[in-house]
Amino acid sequence: MTNSSPAPLSASSISIQKTDSPKPLVPNSQLLFGKTFTDHMLAIRWTQEGGWQTPEIKPYGNLSLDPAALVLHYGLECFEGMKAYKGKNGEIRLFRPEMNLKRMNLSAKRLTLPAFDEAEFLKCIEQLLKIEERWIPQEKGYSLYLRPTFIATQPSLGVTSSNEALLYVICCPVGPYYPTGFKAVSLYATREYVRAWPGGTGNMKLGGNYAPGLVAQKLAADNECQQNLWIFGEEDKITEVGTMNLFVYLKTKEGETVLISPPLDGTILPGVTRYSILDLARQWDEFKVLEREITMHEVCEAVQEGRVIEMFGAGTACIVSPIKKILYDGKVFGTGNIHLTC
Ligand code: PMP
Repeated sequence: MTNSSPAPLSASSISIQKTDSPKPLVPNSQLLFGKTFTDHMLAIRWTQEGGWQTPEIKPYGNLSLDPAALVLHYGLECFEGMKAYKGKNGEIRLFRPEMNLKRMNLSAKRLTLPAFDEAEFLKCIEQLLKIEERWIPQEKGYSLYLRPTFIATQPSLGVTSSNEALLYVICCPVGPYYPTGFKAVSLYATREYVRAWPGGTGNMKLGGNYAPGLVAQKLAADNECQQNLWIFGEEDKITEVGTMNLFVYLKTKEGETVLISPPLDGTILPGVTRYSILDLARQWDEFKVLEREITMHEVCEAVQEGRVIEMFGAGTACIVSPIKKILYDGKVFGTGNIHLTC
């Protein structure tokens, strides 16, 4: 045994440097999603030789990166989105963080970034939250959004796995994701572009999945929709929404009430919120809960026959967003209680 094997990530050695100039809190009513950042961040460096270095909690600030860092050229980056809340008794609560950290390790693996010890990383995040406690809003509908981020920092214009990386976490107090608040949203079903495909990276949370989606998001906005609905294949299978998983609650032709969410076939992000909703709905045992393929044709037919009870998207940032209409193939389909509008 040598004592030079790369070090595992360990929370016990964490170093904490507090800011001398804490920022004033922003009133909840003025929070725009992802625009206000707290006083501190967590940063943990990794090198192939030395392994995981001392986790540091330090004042929030710019990163210093070599302009040749792999992340800046080939998009070697993955991230997570999770929320912390303060309970009535003042206790800080994270919502199922172990699911996010597990997903992050899967994303990292796809980028050949190193694996980290999820439990130790979580301990570091908990320390950061204790320090940022005053930033966790207590009002209903508000929370502290955490953004764990993992980037490849090795300077290299050769396309290669990175021998250096940085894992960091920043935090934002947030309220509603959409500027329209918690109101029902409109979706533009995207036929012009494809988000993910079999064997691709749609089931991972890579920055590289989102940049090419912006053009579809812009098209949706140009058509007065909050987000786009990703559909796939010749049958226009529904997959997911811009940053949400999708649910359709309907009556089948046979009169059975079912909650359907498209299956995790590798093209869809396995959402923590999706998992939790399916889990809860199965426990209620009031209607059938199905993870199965659903096409635009099936939804449009159900809308026209007045069988769609509700459609909604779900995700950490957007929470549960009811869907009021879908713009598809030049027609507007109203969902739920709002029926076909044209
Ligand atoms: N799909 C996509 C593409 C997303 O970006 C998100 C947000 N992370 C979701 C679904 C929902 O996932 P989660 O419930 O884990 O936030």
